[in-house]
Amino acid sequence: MRYGRAVRQFSCPRCSSALAVDSLTCGACGLEVGLHPPTRTVRAAPEQGIDVDGTWWFRCANRRWDCSWLTAGDSGSGQCFSCRLTRTRPSADDTLALEKLATASASKRRLLVQLAELGLPVTPWYERPGGLGFDLLSSRTNGSRVVIGHANGIVTIDLAETLDAHREQLRVSLGEPYRTMLGHFRHEVGHYYQWVLVEQTGWIDECRELFGDERASYADAIARHYRTGAPRGWTEGYISEYATMHPWEDFAECWAHYLHMTDTLTTAAAAAMRLGDEVVPRATYGDATMADVLTDWRPVSTFLDSANRAMGKSDLYPFAIVEQVARKLDFVHRVVQASRVEQVLVTSSS
Ligand SMILES: [Zn+2]
Ligand SMILES: [Zn+2]
Repeated sequence: MRYGRAVRQFSCPRCSSALAVDSLTCGACGLEVGLHPPTRTVRAAPEQGIDVDGTWWFRCANRRWDCSWLTAGDSGSGQCFSCRLTRTRPSADDTLALEKLATASASKRRLLVQLAELGLPVTPWYERPGGLGFDLLSSRTNGSRVVIGHANGIVTIDLAETLDAHREQLRVSLGEPYRTMLGHFRHEVGHYYQWVLVEQTGWIDECRELFGDERASYADAIARHYRTGAPRGWTEGYISEYATMHPWEDFAECWAHYLHMTDTLTTAAAAAMRLGDEVVPRATYGDATMADVLTDWRPVSTFLDSANRAMGKSDLYPFAIVEQVARKLDFVHRVVQASRVEQVLVTSSS
């Protein structure tokens, strides 16, 4: 097992049919399956558990809420690594919110698989103050406002945004070209990693040169952004209007886009996609440069935009990467490369 390795050959351990990362059963042979987080491979998931390299693994306690991950027998709570990262969830009798939690949790698991592929460190909130955790609450049933954001390691997500009509209404009213639950997770975890990997390390000086000084008043920035909107000519330096609001948001937006691109390229590579003779997406860009990523990303995203248009949908990737944005993405890429650890997606006690 090596960090920085992308594993996307998810297949049925019995019949070898291709499976999605989040599969609960094999569509071809009906085998019940689950993801073994340390190896990021799909295994058989019988009720009584399964021996993987001498350790017993069991279905996550939230499998009835479609959690596909396995958890080690000695982990205590019966919950998988992903579910344990959820610090706050809707109450047990709030069925509507729990359904939304199941939908959002699938995006969280996809995020965590990618963080492991990239070798990004994940220290859980319950192991250290300031560790990564998630408060997943619904503003629809909570009766109170749930503000999506990050503070001291805890990412808060409004589960109401799993409702397509609600999320789309927000997207249109905010003038955004793209708004998804996975995108929220990627953006918010970007705040976490800027705090952990950049603000507390020697990366901060170069970060301030590229993105601006993050010590600028955030309250003033919000007020200005919602009063006057993005500055004229913002497309020359930013990936999105939201990125113009504050240096923190610029970094988180670039971080999210870095995850969008690398996940999509890895997905293309796993399917052995190639465009003509030249463009062959790689399984991992861990040892490549950001220029390499962008060289592959441009034709791949152009193709996927066209594929969406062929179905009468809007572009898959409705963004333009200008030179200044490419420099910011290059910074993100170098921080990720320099921060790699082996990430096994299990608690340190299990
Ligand atoms: Zn099968
Ligand atoms: Zn789980």
